[in-house]
Amino acid sequence: MKNKMLAGVITLALAFPFAALRADEAKAKTEDHKEAKEPTYAAACPSPCEFSVKSHDKKEVAAVLKEHAKSHHHMDLSDKDADGMIKEHGAKK
Ligand SMILES: [Zn+2]
Repeated sequence: MKNKMLAGVITLALAFPFAALRADEAKAKTEDHKEAKEPTYAAACPSPCEFSVKSHDKKEVAAVLKEHAKSHHHMDLSDKDADGMIKEHGAKK
């Protein structure tokens, strides 16, 4: 009897506050987990542009960066240019 009541109280207590937080928390946890495992590549457009791109795939970052430079700044970045703008994060072992 007592256990059943307690289980009900716990369920209620967990259901409400966590419903709103769960999505963000799960996402943050997944990202932390990923970051610990593999490096993240990030690149940002020089200011005043606020464009930035981040991915675990370096080629994807380079491709997005080049596409952005072309479509927003009419600039053709070479692979080397794009590569030079990419920073590696979280390559912990
Ligand atoms: Zn830009």
